Amino acid sequence: MISTTRPRRRTVLMAGVISIAVLFSVYLCLLIWAKPMFEYRTVYGIYQVWSDRPISPAIRPVLDDVTRRLKTSAVHDASVPVEIYICNAPWRMWLYGMKFSTRYGGVADVWLTRHVIIRAADIAANRVVSPWPYPIPDEQHRPLSYFIAHEITHVDLSRRFGRTMVARYPEWLMEGYPDYVGKGGDFDFDANRAKFLAGAPELSRATSSLYLGYHLRVAYLLDKKHWTLDRIFAKPPSDVELDSWLRSGR
Ligand SMILES: [Zn+2]
Repeated sequence: MISTTRPRRRTVLMAGVISIAVLFSVYLCLLIWAKPMFEYRTVYGIYQVWSDRPISPAIRPVLDDVTRRLKTSAVHDASVPVEIYICNAPWRMWLYGMKFSTRYGGVADVWLTRHVIIRAADIAANRVVSPWPYPIPDEQHRPLSYFIAHEITHVDLSRRFGRTMVARYPEWLMEGYPDYVGKGGDFDFDANRAKFLAGAPELSRATSSLYLGYHLRVAYLLDKKHWTLDRIFAKPPSDVELDSWLRSGR
């Protein structure tokens, strides 16, 4: 008798590998050619906004506010078109956000498409719709225009520092600078430093979903030490150094 166990196992394994490769390829195609899956579109300046629901004309003042925020960026090129996809249906956020979750405000694909993905939004109110029965954390400082400007800044950073930047730079910089730009100046440095010194949970990434602590570090280097963004990226200070500088106030 000749055993067929090994060849069968090999065949099953091969079929599994091929199935995963096909699924992955289909998924990549869906990400790259997202437009046909979004019925509604509006163009305003450099912004192409796609959505699965009719887009309120109020998107214009929201985008004007995004432009205002992006003026604080050292890496934004106002001549480069931006593609923004608003995913009102949870499954779209789950699929196009690439995190296979719906519990976040937005994401930017800096690896492949450079699309900006935004969760369900109430455009007329300039806010994202909370995935919880209560408002999103720090809602008053994070309108819809904040999320859009924050994600565009991720894309802008990837154009300047490369698609692999996430693997080469610290998280406080990768998220702190988009938060800095996204807030568009709506940040009280002294109040947030006082909270940091007091050990407030919202200033710690470990105990909060917010980037306030990261923002504080970036604001300190840019606005207090007057470093350029290129200088920060050339040699980002360590967490220990930054916390020490912030504590001493020097
Ligand atoms: Zn971010």
